[in-house]
Amino acid sequence: MMLHISNLSKIYPLPGRKTAEALRIANFNMGDREKVALVGPSGSGKSTLLHLIAGILRPTTGSIRLLDHQLETMGEAELDRFRASRIGYVFQSFNLIPGLSALENVTAAMSFGRVIPARERKARAATLLDQVGLSHRLQHKPAQLSSGEQQRVSIARALANRPALVLADEPTASLDYDNAQQVFILLTEACQLHGAGLLLCTHDLDIAGKLDRIVRIRDLRASGGESEAG
Ligand code: ADP
Ligand code: MG
Repeated sequence: MMLHISNLSKIYPLPGRKTAEALRIANFNMGDREKVALVGPSGSGKSTLLHLIAGILRPTTGSIRLLDHQLETMGEAELDRFRASRIGYVFQSFNLIPGLSALENVTAAMSFGRVIPARERKARAATLLDQVGLSHRLQHKPAQLSSGEQQRVSIARALANRPALVLADEPTASLDYDNAQQVFILLTEACQLHGAGLLLCTHDLDIAGKLDRIVRIRDLRASGGESEAG
C-alpha cells in the first residue's frame, strides 16, 4: 500500500478562540501506481488533504503512512527531504520560478530532490520536457509560455525525481477546455510512463471519470468509507 490514512483531521485556528475544522477523514488508501480522482466542492478540504500528504501541513489528529514513512513521526528537515525526493506536485497556478527557463525549472527540482545524479539532470529535464511536447520551449521563461505550456512544464517538474506519487491540485482549472484536456492526458500518461501514482483533485467529473477510481471527499468522513464509482 503506497498511502494509508486513518482518523485524519485538520483544524485551523481562527482569530480569537475560534477554530475551523477543514478536514476529517476516517480512512483512505491508495495502491502503488493507482490514479485516483478526489472530488468535492470548493472548501471541502481537498487542498488541505494534499498539503497534509505532502507534509507541508501537520495534521491535528490521525496518521498518514506514505511509502513506508509515518509522516507524523518525522521532523521538518526530514519531511522537506522526503517531499522533495519522493513526491511530485502540480498546482492550479503552476508555481514555476519566474526567473528560470523551462529547462532550469525542471533541473532546479532535481537539485532540491538530490535523487538524479548531477551529470544526468540536464538531459533528463530535456527528455521530460520533450515528453510533454515542449522540446522547442526549453529556454523559454514562464512569462513567455502560454498557460497550457506552463502547466506542461510543471508536469515535467513533478516527475523530475522519479516520484512514487504525484499530487495534482485542480491542475486543469486555470486552463481553457482544449488545454485542460491535453494537460490531463499528458499528466496521466507521464505518471503511467514513469510508474508514479496520481492523486488528482478536481470538480470536473468528466476528467475524474477517466482515472482508475473516484473518491468523494464527503464519503471519506464515515468510518470504513471509501467510495467507488466511475
Ligand atoms: P478545497 O481545496 O476543497 O477548496 P481547502 O482545503 O482549501 O478546500 O479548505 C478547506 C476549509 O479550510 C475551507 O473552509 C477553508 O476556508 C479552510 N481553510 C483553508 N486554509 C485555511 C487556513 N490557512 N486557515 C483557516 N482556514 C483555512
Ligand atoms: Mg483547493
